Amino acid sequence: MRFQLTRECRREAGKLIIGILALQGGFHLHQLSLESLQIKSELIRYPKQLDHCDALIIPGGESTTLMKQIMKNNFFDSLIEFANKKSIMGTCAGMIISSCRSSDKLNRSLSVIDIEVDRNSWGRQVHSFEAEIIVNFDIDNPFNATFIRAPKVSRMGHGVESFAEYGDSAVLLSDGRHLMASFHPEIGDDNRIHKLFMGMIK
Ligand code: GLN
Repeated sequence: MRFQLTRECRREAGKLIIGILALQGGFHLHQLSLESLQIKSELIRYPKQLDHCDALIIPGGESTTLMKQIMKNNFFDSLIEFANKKSIMGTCAGMIISSCRSSDKLNRSLSVIDIEVDRNSWGRQVHSFEAEIIVNFDIDNPFNATFIRAPKVSRMGHGVESFAEYGDSAVLLSDGRHLMASFHPEIGDDNRIHKLFMGMIK
């Protein structure tokens, strides 16, 4: 279910550059999702590159490794500064990194959105699954979401809204600026979550 942006949106979107943090994890599929929306993206490996990005995607992967890479490559402060002004979409490990705190001893997280999460809470790699979820911006067309050692949201702060749930847990949420998914919206050919994120970019 590939979607096109309207001509109006495309004209605007043509000017945007979306950074994709490319230190670890599944950054390449995000690039393809953005390509399908005709959005320019750039793989980000140095903090300086953030200067010309209008928004950033932090992909899934392994949050402890990702955080080590963030520290090692001097991204920590730059990412927090970026998030104060611009939108971040965090998926799976990217959501863990962006949260306020997670259940285990991940020494740091960016606290860019007021949520807390429990890592690996849907089970181990072998318990990965796909599920049809109802997204509140397109309720008639379920989204086929892939969960891979996904985090569960244990607390949502004021101003954080759930856009989709699985069971009794929010799996897609936003505070109006940032968008977080505990699943992998870049897997499969449905780019509606990326399109939603594009609409959040000021
Ligand atoms: N469970 C992983 C972690 O804790 C995240 C898995 C993923 O991004 N698919 O980092």
